Amino acid sequence: MGREVRRVPLDFDWPLNKIWEGFLSPDKFDETPCPDCKNGYSPQAQNLYDLWYGHLPFDPASNGSTAWRHDTPAIRARAERNTETAPEYYGRDEAAIVREAQRLADHFNSGWLHHLTQDDVDALVTAGRLHDLTHNWTREDGWQPKQPAVTPTAEQVNEWSLGGFGHDGINASVVVRARCEREGVDDTCRTCQGHASTEAYPGQRAEAEAWEPTEPPEGEGWQLWETVSEGSPISPVFANPERLAEWMASPEYVWGAHKGSGLSYESALSFIKAGWAPTGVVTPGRGFESGVEHVGRSED
Ligand SMILES: [Zn+2]
Repeated sequence: MGREVRRVPLDFDWPLNKIWEGFLSPDKFDETPCPDCKNGYSPQAQNLYDLWYGHLPFDPASNGSTAWRHDTPAIRARAERNTETAPEYYGRDEAAIVREAQRLADHFNSGWLHHLTQDDVDALVTAGRLHDLTHNWTREDGWQPKQPAVTPTAEQVNEWSLGGFGHDGINASVVVRARCEREGVDDTCRTCQGHASTEAYPGQRAEAEAWEPTEPPEGEGWQLWETVSEGSPISPVFANPERLAEWMASPEYVWGAHKGSGLSYESALSFIKAGWAPTGVVTPGRGFESGVEHVGRSED
């Protein structure tokens, strides 16, 4: 967040608080959404992602995996922890623990991500994605492979996935892509080559990549701009820095939600001469102050 002074023509009349048009990529570069995909995946890969996250009905047996049960030790232990944390919510008796354990089991049975096959696990190990299980971490050396090297079983990985952070989106992508490759199907949408959109006219994408922002015109005037967005003018254009400083020290100057900056004329003038100030600076003794105040004071 910040403010800056720009030199613009005296008759520059771009509306205040409106981003300068040259800074914005033109609408004509908006592409057409792909008719055949949502995210750039092939239909098969999309289907697999939906199974991974349980957005489609998933059956653990379809992966040769055993469904979690309320009395699976890892599930039972977690249900006990949950009920102990909030007995007034869950209840205090054995039935309450079993009920919570069954809820957890149903939840963990609903997606592929807690029922990996050994092929899935091998793909993750190859991609270096299971360091919790294949590596040791120390402060001195960071992650180092276990010696001798270990390949976790699907069972171990699936139990690991119930706690902590589990699998992230990268793991989902590694497993889905590896499975597409094993099955000999594309993982990427053929219509859009994975962009999830297509060109609205031939050459649009190359044109968009070649596009560069255009600066506002330069001139004799002095104007304050905000740089919080891509950049828009926030003061009238003045003929000299002194007039801009007067304006900045007046109630006309709007700083965020506040009317008036509380700046002295001298601080404002120092800021203008310094050309640019970061929005906020933390200094010993004064705590947080706006960048304009800080530059003004530094110049005193
Ligand atoms: Zn597509």
